[in-house]
Amino acid sequence: MQDYQAPQHLLKNRVILVTGAGDGIGRQAALTYANHGATVILLGKTVKKLEQTYDMIVEAGAPEPAIVPLDMLGATEQNYSDMATTIDEQFGRLDGVLHNAGMLGVLSPFEQIDLESWDKVLKVNVTAQMMMTKALLPQLKKAEDAALIFTSSGVGKKGRAYWGSYSVSKFATEGMMEILADEMSNTSVRVNAINPGATRTGMRASAYPAEDASKLKTPLDLMPVYLYLMGPESKEVRGQSIDAQPK
Ligand code: NDP
Repeated sequence: MQDYQAPQHLLKNRVILVTGAGDGIGRQAALTYANHGATVILLGKTVKKLEQTYDMIVEAGAPEPAIVPLDMLGATEQNYSDMATTIDEQFGRLDGVLHNAGMLGVLSPFEQIDLESWDKVLKVNVTAQMMMTKALLPQLKKAEDAALIFTSSGVGKKGRAYWGSYSVSKFATEGMMEILADEMSNTSVRVNAINPGATRTGMRASAYPAEDASKLKTPLDLMPVYLYLMGPESKEVRGQSIDAQPK
């Protein structure tokens, strides 16, 4: 899967929502999906960054994307339900969602976990994804072949000292993926997760400020897995948590 070579038109005519599309892995995934034919809905917090991704996609000659500015920290169920209505009205279909947006929060010993920061991380990394998924599932179920992808982490599979809220949020993400994969087992919606592994982004730099980032994989290096799981060739893959950089 890590060596997957996607056909150029893998995602032609598909509509795919990417969260956190203004930066890091999400920006690259949005560009890559668009370059493979998808109309991408760019969701994120910072409009300027989303506009940059939009420009990159248009300059590449890919289908024109749409921008959905949304702060997942404050967004309510009503916001997600309105978003689902707008997507339905504008596009009439939704074939895939990449839940990629996430926040690291504060790394600290457990005894010093700051409740405010904990709540924020759980809200953005877990509750917001649950609300968004709830709102979008009816549309995904209507698609002939839909992919719902969550973003996990190594610390979502094995707890690690000082990673408190982030690690707990990624365990929850793994759980949410498995629950949904089971519930969707008789539908056309396949649900999986990707653990990107150490990747050269802003989030990684804040977690490991002293490391030599030039030795890390870039978001582009991970794209074969992101394409495979979003495209029709992964139709039979369900309930899996895939390492984009297996050891
Ligand atoms: P970045 O920090 O580079 O990007 C995170 C993205 O999430 C940004 O586009 C950001 O938008 C968006 N985001 C954050 N908070 C919110 C919010 N409240 N509302 C809407 N959007 C928000 O991170 P990465 O690209 O590194 O991470 C992408 C995913 O991969 C995350 O889920 C992360 O946990 C996971 N991951 C990353 C690893 C790595 O080594 N990089 C390793 C393992 C997992 P904005 O810029 O506007 O704030």
